Amino acid sequence: MSNRGGVVLVGAGPGDADLITVKGLAQLQRADVVVHDRLVNLQLLDQVPEGCEVISVGKTPGGPATSQQRINEILLEKARLGKHVVRLKGGDPFVFGRGGEELQICLREGVSCQVVPGVSSAIAAPASIGIPVTYRKVARSCTIITGHSEDLDYDALVRLDTLIVLMGHAHLSGICRGLIEAGKSIDTPAAAVEQATTPKQRSVFSDLKSIADRVKAESLTTPLVLIIGEVVKMGNLSVAPSEIEDHELRGI
Ligand code: SAH
Repeated sequence: MSNRGGVVLVGAGPGDADLITVKGLAQLQRADVVVHDRLVNLQLLDQVPEGCEVISVGKTPGGPATSQQRINEILLEKARLGKHVVRLKGGDPFVFGRGGEELQICLREGVSCQVVPGVSSAIAAPASIGIPVTYRKVARSCTIITGHSEDLDYDALVRLDTLIVLMGHAHLSGICRGLIEAGKSIDTPAAAVEQATTPKQRSVFSDLKSIADRVKAESLTTPLVLIIGEVVKMGNLSVAPSEIEDHELRGI
């Protein structure tokens, strides 16, 4: 990127600060400006050089948010001042993170923009509770879905193997109901994990019929990933005993 300013979209990983990539960390260590989301591990900010400007554009659920337009403006403004701008985003920058939009805007405006992929919570959250999302002979596909709204193509989803729902906390029961009404078996194994890969990680194992109630009963909250499908049976390797009561290993 030489002396000209530019933007690097860096995936911060799913939660554990050590899950950033080596390349992402190197970018942070030479940043002039860091623009970060709420979900990134704030320990990562210890890595920025002295004098680096740190700007939080985090959205708290229901709370104030920096508009996407304002975020775009900040990225462009700082890069045009000749700054090396690190846009630090949770997980992978291109998995439901508006990273694609930020890249396009930079390029359209003639600002250099690179991408450093990250470990997405979509895969890391299931892994954190021992769920291999494409276990051989059990799942030939895994599908990452936004649960931001219940308005999903349930007829298509029920034909797929592993389903991974991000941003679904507020609509869990509606999403599970939609899948059941479209023909997914109520016994389909399902699990949910909150704050995956962090010391606050909690999870529940259940089935499609009861997972939403279990999440509510255990007051699991956002950020949370819901995993539905036979691969969930492979999970629970490292969860606390109280959390595995409902989980039946049915033998595959
Ligand atoms: N780009 C991010 C996803 C952004 S959408 C990525 O690749 O991970 C935000 C959603 O990601 C949250 O609502 C939640 O569903 C999920 N998420 C992110 N971090 C998480 C974590 N540590 N544990 C559980 N879910 C997480």
